[in-house]
Amino acid sequence: MRPNLPSMRLVRSPKLAALAASASLALAAGVPAGAAAAPAAPVTSPSAVAAAAAAKKGFSLEWGTFRADHKQAAQALKRSGAMQRLVKLVNKRYVLPREIPVLFGDELDQGPAYFPNVKLNDGTRLSFINFPGSFLTLEIAALGKELEGTNAGITPTQAMIYANEFVVAHEIGHALVDQLDIPVTGREEDAVDGFAAFLLNKSPNFGPRSAFTAALLFDAIANSRDLQEGDFADEHSLPEQRVYQFLCWTYGSDPKNFKVLIGEDGLPKERAGRCVDEWKQVNRSWGRLLAPFKRR
Ligand SMILES: [Zn+2]
Repeated sequence: MRPNLPSMRLVRSPKLAALAASASLALAAGVPAGAAAAPAAPVTSPSAVAAAAAAKKGFSLEWGTFRADHKQAAQALKRSGAMQRLVKLVNKRYVLPREIPVLFGDELDQGPAYFPNVKLNDGTRLSFINFPGSFLTLEIAALGKELEGTNAGITPTQAMIYANEFVVAHEIGHALVDQLDIPVTGREEDAVDGFAAFLLNKSPNFGPRSAFTAALLFDAIANSRDLQEGDFADEHSLPEQRVYQFLCWTYGSDPKNFKVLIGEDGLPKERAGRCVDEWKQVNRSWGRLLAPFKRR
């Protein structure tokens, strides 16, 4: 039976950014400046990537080249040092069997995505995360719309950096599932969203801002498209559902501070009542699944 699509458009601009302002989410706290690592040699060919990968284990950042219209966003992201800190956090915590490059650049305009076991021209294989500049500019535009007319005290570029922390952590989650053969029951896409929240929410350099800003991003994405039949076939939950899931984890991780997320424009009361337990469950589960790979 064909579902009645219009009646299924449940999310109507939840004005999350306005909530952000009243939630005092410390979104404007700012990204510590000047922490960027020395730029890595640009990745110009698959063999250069393979050579980089052969050198060490764990995630490594590689900044490639960007088209003129993506350069500003890429520079802001790189200068923020957020991606460097994220990779450092994961490498400090977990042992990986090989190096997984995290590539930022327009060399490959695909993703953000984790590409497992790709056969390169020289016959070697490589698993890597790719993050194209087009996604950075899309994020700035989408978050700009979301923040318009609100007093969230954060620029679209800064919001892009925070949302990116979540998106990259999500891709790192895919890489861990593959590389460490982590069991997944249910959708992997939902599971690795949980990993991103688990990794970032209680980490001093990140915190709940990442999941919350990702909720803003997915709200903007949800509001910018008409739901199509094919959206239900996607391996991801609908952007609308991810918005509520991220709000749920944010609230569940600190219900006293984030009470303001509950309400007509945010998390329904009925769902909020489950979020503390949902948050505990996602933490307990990822903690146990990753315990054998924890660096001591
Ligand atoms: Zn994914």
